[in-house]
Amino acid sequence: MTKATLDEVIVRRRFGAGEVIFRERDQASEAFVIESGLVEISTDLGYERKVLAILGPGEMFGEMSALDGTERSATAVALQETELTLIVNEQLRSRVEAAEPVLRLLLRVILNRFRHEQSLFRQLGTGALETIAARAEVEASKLAIDKIKLESELRGALSREELEVHYQPIVRLSGNVTVGFEALLRWRHSELGTMAPDKFIGLAEETALIVPIGRWVLEKACRDVVRMQQRLGREIVMSVNVSGRQFAEPSFLSELKTVIDETGVNPRSLKLEITEGVLMDHRTRPLGWIESCKQLGASIALDDFGTGFSSLSYLASFPIDTLKIDRSFVRAMGADPRSLKIVRAINQLAHGIGLDVVAEGIEDDVQRLELLRMGCELGQGFLFSPAVPFEQAVDQARSIAGA
Ligand code: C2E
Ligand code: CA
Ligand code: CA
Repeated sequence: MTKATLDEVIVRRRFGAGEVIFRERDQASEAFVIESGLVEISTDLGYERKVLAILGPGEMFGEMSALDGTERSATAVALQETELTLIVNEQLRSRVEAAEPVLRLLLRVILNRFRHEQSLFRQLGTGALETIAARAEVEASKLAIDKIKLESELRGALSREELEVHYQPIVRLSGNVTVGFEALLRWRHSELGTMAPDKFIGLAEETALIVPIGRWVLEKACRDVVRMQQRLGREIVMSVNVSGRQFAEPSFLSELKTVIDETGVNPRSLKLEITEGVLMDHRTRPLGWIESCKQLGASIALDDFGTGFSSLSYLASFPIDTLKIDRSFVRAMGADPRSLKIVRAINQLAHGIGLDVVAEGIEDDVQRLELLRMGCELGQGFLFSPAVPFEQAVDQARSIAGA
C-alpha cells in the first residue's frame, strides 16, 4: 500500500482536555483507538453519572455501537489532550463478516448480553453488575463451546460412519405408487442418538462442512437408487437436497459429473432440490448452474415453495422441472380456506407452465384427496411413510405400491 492510500485509511483526530468525543445515545459511526492521552467512559444513571472506565494509549472504545449500528451506550470525554485513530464501522463489520462462524456467534452473543446488562445496570444500580456479567459470560461461552464441540464431532462424523441417508417415498397420489424417494440425512450421534438435520445442517452450512457431507449424500443416494431400480425392476427418481453453500462451490458441477460416472446412475433418475434462496443469489449465477445440471441429464426441483419470496418470476426465468409445495400450506389447507386456494392456484400455475407438483407433508387421507381433486399428482408425507433406511424403503415400495 502506498503512503497516500495509507493516510486515507488511517484518520486521526485530536481532542482537547474536557472535550466530548461522543455522547450517550448519539448515533454511532466509528470506533476509536487511543494514540495518546486519556479518555473517560461514563454513563448517566439518571441520578448520577457513573464512570465505567478510564482508558489510555492502545485501548479501543466505541466498538460496540459501531459493530451493531445501535446508539452509543456511554459518553466518552477526553481527560487531557488526546489523539485518536478512527476506525470506520465498515472496517469492523467486514472483518466480523469474514470471521470464523463461532467467533461471529460469540461476538453477537456478547454484544446482546452487554446491551442487556447495561439496561439492567441502569435499573438495578452497580451492585448487580458483577454477578450479571459473570453469569452472562458463562452462558455465552457455553453456547459457543457447545457449538464448537458439535462442529468437531460433525467433522469426524463422516469418517466414523455416523452419517446415514434415509429415504422418504414420493408417491403418485392416485393409487399410492412410489415413483421416487427423497434422500434425507441422519446423524447417529454416539451420545445424542439419531439427530434430524435441522439440528446440524445449519452448522454444516456455516462451516462449509456441508460441501464434503453433501457430496457424500449425493454419492450414496446415487448408488442406492441404482440398487433400488435393480431390486424393484422399475424406474425410480432420487431427489437430493443441494444447499446454497454446495451450489456456490465451483467444483460442484465437476463433482456431480464424477459421481454420475462412478456410480453409473442414469442422470435422468436424479433430481436436485434447491430452494428459492439459491435462485436469488446472483453471485452464484444460478441460471448457468441449473442449465449445466440439466445438460448432464439431472432435473431440478424448487423446494419449500411458498416459504421464501415465492416470486413467480423465478418459475418463468429458471428451467425448473418440479415445484414442491411446502408442508405448511398442506397443513393449513383444512382449517384455512385461503391456504386451500393458494395451493390450488400454485397447482394451476405450475401445470400451466409444464411443471410437476409435489405436495409435502401429507399426513392424512383428507389432504391427499383434496390435493388429488385440485390436480396435484405427486406427494410425500407421513401418511405414506417417514424417511426410512434403504432396506425398509425398498420393502415398502414393493409392498405398498408395486407399480
Ligand atoms: P426438506 O428438504 O423440506 O425435507 C422434508 C422434511 O419434512 C424432512 O425433514 C421430512 O422428514 C419432513 N417430513 C416429511 N413428511 C412429513 C410430514 O408428513 N409431516 C411432517 N411434519 N414432516 C414431514 P428432515 O429429514 O428432518 O429434514 C429437514 C431438512 O433438512 C430438509 O427439509 C432439508 O432442508 C434438510 N436436509 C435433509 N437432508 C439434507 C441433505 O442431505 N443435504 C442438505 N443440504 N439438506 C438436507
Ligand atoms: Ca427437500
Ligand atoms: Ca421441502
